[in-house]
This record gives sequence, structure tokens and C-alpha cells, in this order.
Amino acid sequence: MTSIEMKNIVKRYGDGFPAVNDVSMSIADGEFMILVGPSGCGKSTLLRMVVGLEDITSGDLLIDGKKVNDLAPRDRNLSMVFQNYALYPHLTVYENIAFPLRLTKGAVSEDEIKRRVGEAADVLELNDHLDRKPANLSGGQRQRVAMGRAIVRDADAFLFDEPLSNLDAKLRGQMRTEIARMQRRLGQTTIYVTHDQTEAMTLGDRVTVLKKGIVQQIASPRELYEQP
Ligand code: ADP
Ligand code: ADP
Repeated sequence: MTSIEMKNIVKRYGDGFPAVNDVSMSIADGEFMILVGPSGCGKSTLLRMVVGLEDITSGDLLIDGKKVNDLAPRDRNLSMVFQNYALYPHLTVYENIAFPLRLTKGAVSEDEIKRRVGEAADVLELNDHLDRKPANLSGGQRQRVAMGRAIVRDADAFLFDEPLSNLDAKLRGQMRTEIARMQRRLGQTTIYVTHDQTEAMTLGDRVTVLKKGIVQQIASPRELYEQP
């Protein structure tokens, strides 16, 4: 059960125009919010502020109604999948997915790790590849490992920064289907950055359009892409 609320969020890097300029939105529990807009409009900055990798200049960020502006990333319990999904090349698929569990405060038992990695591998159909190293996987399989690492932690919400942008069209289609399936199964609150209209149409409950750090529109995919 996780809602994310942004109230008048501003991010200034220097003296110039704010990278994110007075952004407000409410994302309901279980909602899949798509974020679109031209390169440099502040999408990554917004995600990084939500996950806690970037300070908020002004405004409030609330998770489940609680202000979290000053909360450390590890205490926010959100999972982010980055554009370049760097995997650990010397670790197997199993150990790559298990990695976040080995980092968490309070030891997670080996049995519990095995169970959770198994569950993630199940959702993402990686069971036959658990002993492989990333170099021996296809692009789509590597992407799924990155997703596995995100879902294994039982996070309250997911943040995706153009997770499919490095894949070819066929893999992108497959992954889109996987994410939709995962979403139906897990029902997590998600913010998903993309340039791809098909992804926005297939996955999104709503779409936020950003331009120069300012929210232009928040609408359903249908309203946005099928308007006359
Ligand atoms: P998008 O993800 O939509 O491409 P970004 O959030 O990466 O946009 O960037 C928004 C604006 O903030 C851009 O003008 C970018 O150059 C600037 N910016 C992003 N990160 C930094 C940073 N660490 N330092 C200074 N400026 C930054
Ligand atoms: P993307 O659009 O995919 O976020 P960028 O090239 O904008 O990629 O950003 C890559 C990295 O460089 C990010 O970590 C961002 O914080 C940083 N960055 C982006 N713009 C600037 C900038 N103007 N000054 C300093 N760092 C920046």
C-alpha cells in the first residue's frame, strides 16, 4: 500500500532555470504513472529525488502521507531500475538478483534469499539461467536480471528510467509484455519514464507530460494519444 505525493517540488542545480519547477502530482497506491517529455525536461531528476539520490530544493515529497524529504534512500524502500542497468559482471544471475538482500539491514537468511530469488526468477522466467554470468546473456535477459534485482527486495514502489531504451524492437516488445504481466501480478505503485508511446499506452494508468521541468498535462493514455 503505497501512495506517492509531490507538492510543489523544485530542483535547482545552479543559478539557471530550475530542472524541476513546481511539480505537483498524486500517485495512488498500485497506480502505474508514465512520465514523458523531451530530453533534459527533468524526468531523471524527478525520479532521483523520489528515490532519494538527489536533494529536493523546495517542496514536499510524501510517501503514504508521510514527508520523506530528508529520509535516506535505504529508508524509503523504493526500487529504481536505471537506463544502463549495470549488472555485476563477476557475479552469477543468482548472485546479481540476491545482491540487494545481502545489503539490507538485519541479515536475511540464506533460505529466505533462495526463496525470494526463486520467486523473482519465476516471475521473470530466469530459472534456467541462474548460474550464468551477465556476459553470457542476451540483452533482454540482462534487462530481466536488472528487474529481478528491483523486485526481489519487496520494495513499496518501483521507479523505472527508460528501462527498455537500449533494447531492439523485438526485445522491447517482449519486455513490455513482461512488465505488464509483472504489474498485474505484483500491483506495485510505479513511476516509469519512457519516450515510447506504445509503452505508455500499454502500461500506463496515467501519463504526466513534463516540459522544461513544468507539468504540462496529466491524463489517461487514451485522452493524451487519441485526442483529436
Ligand atoms: P531528462 O531525464 O528529462 O533528460 P534530466 O533530469 O536529466 O532530464 O535533466 C534536467 C536538466 O537538469 C537538464 O538541463 C540537465 O542538464 C540538468 N541536470 C541534470 N543533472 C544535473 C546535475 N547533476 N548537475 C547540473 N545539472 C543537471
Ligand atoms: P539522462 O538524460 O539519461 O538522465 P544525462 O546525460 O542527462 O542522461 O545525465 C547523465 C548523468 O550526468 C546524470 O547522472 C546527471 O546527473 C549528470 N548530468 C546531466 N546533466 C548535467 C549537467 N548539466 N551538469 C552536471 N551533471 C549533469
